[in-house]
Amino acid sequence: MVRTRFAPSPTGFIHVGNLRSAIFTYLIAKSNKNGKFLLRIEDTDRGRYVEGATEVIYNTLKTCGLLWDEGPDVGGEYGPYIQSERMESYKEYAEELVEKGEAYYCFCSEERLNSLRETSQAKKENFLYDGYCKSLSKEEIEDKLKSGEKYVIRQITPNEGETSFECQVYGKISIDNDQIEDQILLKSDGYPTYNFANVIDDHLMNITHVVRGNEYLTSTPKYTLLYRSFGWDEPTYVHLPHVIKENGKKLSKRDGDAYFMDFIQKGYLPEAIVNYLALLGWSPEGKKEIFTLSQLEKIFSIKRINKSPAVFDIKKLNWVNSSYMKKLPDDSFVDLCIPHLNNAGIDTLDREWLTKLCVLFKDRLNNTFEIVDHYNDLFNKEFSIDGEALEFMQNEGTDATVKIFKEKLESIEWNSENIKNAINETGIDAGVKGKMLFMPCRIATTGVMHGPDLPKALELLGKEEILARM
Ligand code: GLU
Repeated sequence: MVRTRFAPSPTGFIHVGNLRSAIFTYLIAKSNKNGKFLLRIEDTDRGRYVEGATEVIYNTLKTCGLLWDEGPDVGGEYGPYIQSERMESYKEYAEELVEKGEAYYCFCSEERLNSLRETSQAKKENFLYDGYCKSLSKEEIEDKLKSGEKYVIRQITPNEGETSFECQVYGKISIDNDQIEDQILLKSDGYPTYNFANVIDDHLMNITHVVRGNEYLTSTPKYTLLYRSFGWDEPTYVHLPHVIKENGKKLSKRDGDAYFMDFIQKGYLPEAIVNYLALLGWSPEGKKEIFTLSQLEKIFSIKRINKSPAVFDIKKLNWVNSSYMKKLPDDSFVDLCIPHLNNAGIDTLDREWLTKLCVLFKDRLNNTFEIVDHYNDLFNKEFSIDGEALEFMQNEGTDATVKIFKEKLESIEWNSENIKNAINETGIDAGVKGKMLFMPCRIATTGVMHGPDLPKALELLGKEEILARM
């Protein structure tokens, strides 16, 4: 049975790259019969802990439909699922390794470590702890422990040879053992390091596939050595490529493209974000690209994860999002647009009018936030005709067409149906059709050559405004 886990640290909003990892982790479980997806909160780095961030994790995953089978709030056979509640077991397992001769107590002071660091720096070498405490005698250790000296527990790593593991995406990865430090497993405050806790938990929770970002590729040999020291089977590793921007840079808080929340606030639909992120570094067979989560569950496979960096392409997200928006019932679509309009100070409560406005632009939006720009283009721009529109109006006959159109409009009851008829009648009376009919009508009323359905837009703008413009 396949068991995967998403193991975020509660440090704030969920990063798009991290959410992509959650989606792949979920899909790897769910594309297998009876596969289980677990949620584990990794909160042992107390310096980075942010109050309320665990709720953010729950809400984000739920909003995206990534429901977990086991986790802190739903429980499960392998709990607790919050690392700070598992402290006892980390200590026990670290001590077990000491007993087995696979780890040792280290009492080195900050001063000693700093001076070692400085020496390495001066030699321009990578700092690796020198293993000083590995040779302490049993008595020395007992004395120090008895007198309450502060200690950490370090893993014993080999000095020669190399350590390798197999990743399903990147293949065989090997690291020279002289590059692997006797890393700290248990810190002096009793908390485990991430590198230790993740191995213990993945083992105790029976995780079969460890799925995470490729920044963990270089640490994984350390985990391999830990599994060997315990005599445990290693899980299958799936490292995911980085998500970067077209220019090779990272997604950033400053550019507003780093967090799931940024996209929700801009009016992207969670389903569309999930669909888009699933295609970021993975591709299905065939050309189809719009998939619901449950469709993805049926077709996802590790084999089709690509190891080159995944480029975040906002144009593609826009395309995916607009395909989802087009499928929404008008009423739900309007509900999503209204908060953006309200935030921009457009607070008319006339639902019928708002519905007409939103539906008019439904096919033209990348996200629901853009409804505000379209509203402003239509209502808050000073009316003027310039550029290509002005040039078009130099064509012979346009003035006459506009004059006839205006007369027709003056006499009608104002609704899009009548406006549409007025355009058609103008064509007959002026003896023009196609572009020579529609462009003068559009330019004389909206100032531009392109836009949404003209009769509907004019209905919204209102008779008085349109006649004044003409
Ligand atoms: N807590 C780690 C993080 O948020 C998890 C990495 C992992 O999946 O093992 O980056």
